[in-house]
Amino acid sequence: MFEVIVEASFAAAHSLRGYQGKCAQLHGHNFRVRLTAEGEKLNELGLLVDFTVLKRRLRQLVERFDHENLNEIPPFDVLNPSTENIARYLAVEMQTGMPEGVRVSSVWVQETDANIAVYRP
Ligand SMILES: [Zn+2]
Repeated sequence: MFEVIVEASFAAAHSLRGYQGKCAQLHGHNFRVRLTAEGEKLNELGLLVDFTVLKRRLRQLVERFDHENLNEIPPFDVLNPSTENIARYLAVEMQTGMPEGVRVSSVWVQETDANIAVYRP
């Protein structure tokens, strides 16, 4: 089994709807994202998946969120923009368009030094 890992980051504001506590207030984070993809077979170049392509796709996805209020951007205008939901959203979106035989095995999203959520599809 091979795994490749790519990273991206974005700065965004969010507030958690329905939360009793400080996170219900609009506040910001420098989010860090780490995506792991896995698969058994390498292509003819010896790659599981091209780092450059994977990174470009991840960065294009998070670019929509950079310097924005997540609560105003689909799907988080409806879905609560928790770190867990951000991780799942990125995992699902990134799975679309993966080469055959390559799976997103996890998406790790860090919102602060001490708070990290991981989604494993
Ligand atoms: Zn927060």
